[in-house]
Amino acid sequence: MTNLQLWQAVLGELELSLTKANFTTWFKNTAISLIDGEKITVGVPNTFTKAWLENKYHQSILKTLQKIVGGHVKEVTYRVEAVRPQTQKMAVPTLAVSGTEEKTISAPPAESPRFGLNPKYTFPSFVVGKNNELAHAAAQAVSKNPGKSTYNPLFIYGGVGLGKTHLLQGIGHAILGADSNKKVLYTTSEKFTNDYVQAIRSRTMEKFKQTYRTPDLLLIDDVQFMAAKDGTQQEFFHTFNDLHQADKQIVMTSDRPPKAIPALEQRLISRFEWGMIADISQPDYETRAAILKAKCAEKGLDLDQDIVDHIALIIQNNIRELEGALNKIIAYEQFHHTPPTLDLVKRILMSHVISGRKSATPKQLINIVAEFYDLRLDDLLGQSREKRLAFPRQIIMYLMRKELESSYPAIGQELGGRDHTTAMHAFDKITREVETSDKLKQEIEQIKQRMYN
Ligand code: ADP
Ligand code: MG
Repeated sequence: MTNLQLWQAVLGELELSLTKANFTTWFKNTAISLIDGEKITVGVPNTFTKAWLENKYHQSILKTLQKIVGGHVKEVTYRVEAVRPQTQKMAVPTLAVSGTEEKTISAPPAESPRFGLNPKYTFPSFVVGKNNELAHAAAQAVSKNPGKSTYNPLFIYGGVGLGKTHLLQGIGHAILGADSNKKVLYTTSEKFTNDYVQAIRSRTMEKFKQTYRTPDLLLIDDVQFMAAKDGTQQEFFHTFNDLHQADKQIVMTSDRPPKAIPALEQRLISRFEWGMIADISQPDYETRAAILKAKCAEKGLDLDQDIVDHIALIIQNNIRELEGALNKIIAYEQFHHTPPTLDLVKRILMSHVISGRKSATPKQLINIVAEFYDLRLDDLLGQSREKRLAFPRQIIMYLMRKELESSYPAIGQELGGRDHTTAMHAFDKITREVETSDKLKQEIEQIKQRMYN
């Protein structure tokens, strides 16, 4: 086996247990660079990846290597090496003019550079938890080294209210904080679309280009809404190319990964996948509690620990809702001039508990899963035991039990009249697998998010 084949085999194993975003982010452009007896050296593209592999994936890498070559491997180390050719930059010969371009760029921007950034959305006010550590680390890396091709573009995706906009703008603040002469532009894909359509109508394309093709940092929020009509995507394609070519940093957010954005042109999808893709998932209980504490401090609210714990327990979907709950409590307090007690908070949040419980019906859940895995309903409920069908079916049974608290016989019934023991088996199986597979865990979280939204 050559080094290359060995590493391919290792990657093949690792890929199964990681989310796609994690896998591509941390293992792209890695290779075995040296095997010296019992020691293996893995070449990585930068120190950031090195640190991440050492801290988070070392055990998995070591175990996988041992599994494949037998127990001889005793030591794995990581070394930063000259970057292998990776993001094929476009072969457009514009290097000669880039020098003059620089000068026009540094002309003072017409509007305040902080325009469009919410002063509250900074890195220091962003609480890091397991659900967002990858995206946060990537955002930090980008703001320290904007334009470096490994993280350009940075693509952050995740469900509503999970902190994408906050993180995106945090990058803007950090870059301006380090150098206030930098030109930062924050925009949404809708504004980009509107501006473009407007520019065509009023024949002000030059001004449009001046705005969008000159920033050092372009932050585009919610790219899933980039219109597929009127040439907007084509214009964005050119904007992207111009900026990327000039080593300007681009950061985008979306509610899903590039490939899953239905109306997105293929060439944009592939551009978006050039750099780094990082996901944000739903916060766990500890993170929710930590965020609440931070928000209380920000708002000057002094809540007892048991109250904070209660809110974190009840409100699980997203962080915007957590803030909403806090605001309700503040409003109540200001109105009644009494500090809230736990009982009071329970009552205030009661409406939430009820509406929060409002979730999908079993039938809706089946539809959500069918859509998620792109399967036909007939197939999903049919008799075939093919893995591509059987597995999603088991996920449905698991979620019906866990989230909707259906009885096993009822679950069997919903899924095309299966036996209750099948449902029990599925529940146990998925419960076990969720523990060990990041990938599965995340898929289930995404499905849950659809169930409750
Ligand atoms: P998204 O863009 O993903 O829909 P936002 O960035 O608008 O979500 O976040 C919603 C609210 O939650 C914002 O007020 C934001 O400050 C807050 N928030 C989200 N994540 C965090 C976090 N990790 N720490 C602190 N506040 C957060
Ligand atoms: Mg947002």
